[in-house]
Amino acid sequence: MLPLALEVMAYILIVFSIGLLALKVKAVEFGGAIACIFIGSLILIGGGWYWFIIMIIFFVVSIQFTRFRYNYKKKLGFAQEKGGVRSWSNALANGGVATIFAVTEFFFGGGIYEVAFLGAMASATADTLATEIGLLSKQEPKLITNLRKRVPIGTSGGVTPIGTISAFFASFFIGAVAILLGMVEASPIEVLTIVTIGGIIGCIVDSFLGALIQRIGLCEVCGKTTENLRHCGKPIERLRGFNFVDNNVVNFLSTLSGAISSMALFTLV
Ligand SMILES: [Zn+2]
Repeated sequence: MLPLALEVMAYILIVFSIGLLALKVKAVEFGGAIACIFIGSLILIGGGWYWFIIMIIFFVVSIQFTRFRYNYKKKLGFAQEKGGVRSWSNALANGGVATIFAVTEFFFGGGIYEVAFLGAMASATADTLATEIGLLSKQEPKLITNLRKRVPIGTSGGVTPIGTISAFFASFFIGAVAILLGMVEASPIEVLTIVTIGGIIGCIVDSFLGALIQRIGLCEVCGKTTENLRHCGKPIERLRGFNFVDNNVVNFLSTLSGAISSMALFTLV
């Protein structure tokens, strides 16, 4: 067994190399690489290799699905910015909650934080897939707060059947990997239920927050609705939501909901 300091240094070196690789293949921008190295190191040190594998799976899956039919999504006007290259705020929004639970695992341990971590990761994966695959839907999404109302593709809070199915499979997949790795001390059925439901609840919360509190503005120059603070070089006119609530804030809160839901289910079963 290596002394702890040496072990930690080896971990950071490994994460650093992966971060550089992600930068090289343009999966992240410079700030995003720094954030990912920070997040990855804490997850590896706090949770260990299995946690790290789950994080890598989320990362690779979300990058791939963001790139999937990217030009079509760009034409719609709803592709991730800059070819889907992740920024530091994006990394913290999706990985922040998972990182918090890796740190609590390091200090306190005991299984429950591992479940929370899985719930957060399932939620992040489910939400990314629901969005990226939902954008390809041929039907107009329905608004989660009023399922009779159809909204244009790309609207926050809009849900599609294909996006919902994708969210289910994404959560299920994270649960299945956790079972294969033997992560949680519970029966396979229990783990699958806890992680899948946690991920789906996180995804539903994401849609609700997207419909209720996320900032949406109107560009007075081109007439398009946007989630950015500025469009066409001018500040937007806010239509609804709070100014400080963007997609990143919503993602952070929804992964937290996924984590708490999985923890609650774990204590119940
Ligand atoms: Zn505009």
